[in-house]
Amino acid sequence: MGLNVIMMGPPGAGKGTQAGRYARERSLLKISTGDILREAVKDGNPIAIEARARMDRGELVDDATMIAIVRDRLLRPDAKQGFVLDGFPRTVAQAEALDQIMIERGNGPLVIIDVVVAEEELVRRLAIRRICSKCGAGADPGDTGDSCRMCGGELVQRVDDNVSVVRERLRVYSRSTRPVLDFYRNRPTFRVVNGAQSPERVARELDAMIDEAAAERSL
Ligand code: AMP
Repeated sequence: MGLNVIMMGPPGAGKGTQAGRYARERSLLKISTGDILREAVKDGNPIAIEARARMDRGELVDDATMIAIVRDRLLRPDAKQGFVLDGFPRTVAQAEALDQIMIERGNGPLVIIDVVVAEEELVRRLAIRRICSKCGAGADPGDTGDSCRMCGGELVQRVDDNVSVVRERLRVYSRSTRPVLDFYRNRPTFRVVNGAQSPERVARELDAMIDEAAAERSL
């Protein structure tokens, strides 16, 4: 049976890092909607180029576009064994659409993780965050070099990681994405992890939580 995980949490909580690590270790497909959009902008995709202004301002891209992207990705054969979603769902409409996709697709429980970090810490982390301009991987916070440890590409700051856009993204998170947590909160597979701890500690707690939640669901 497959395993499907949604990594929720505000920008800067470390959900992308944890989603990538967990997916690699468990051989699951990691799907980051932010990465898909940034990649599509680079490739000159017209829909993504239209979405770019909203991304640069820290606003959400419309539900219909996002649901179509994720639906297409989750119904492909390489997602059959399971996935880790990073950055989706961000609205209740997206969460409802994901439930429909899960019914169509079947295969394994849906574990929902909320990575919690206080707002001031998020602003601090995002101000120093850098990603690879080539492969999109996040740099280690302590890394002072200019090139990506995975592919050698140049490390850059994201356009939407400057302080005023970060504040807007956090407002959008509170307004549109927090209600998604309430949508999931009463499910037996919903778990909360303290994202203010070291990445290694978060990883250990997450692994145990996901195993336990998935086992509970398959009883
Ligand atoms: P992220 O890398 O997850 O922070 O996403 C970067 C930007 O892409 C967001 O600020 C949004 O503009 C857009 N985006 C990514 N995922 C979604 C989504 N599920 N719904 C709407 N917009 C999204």
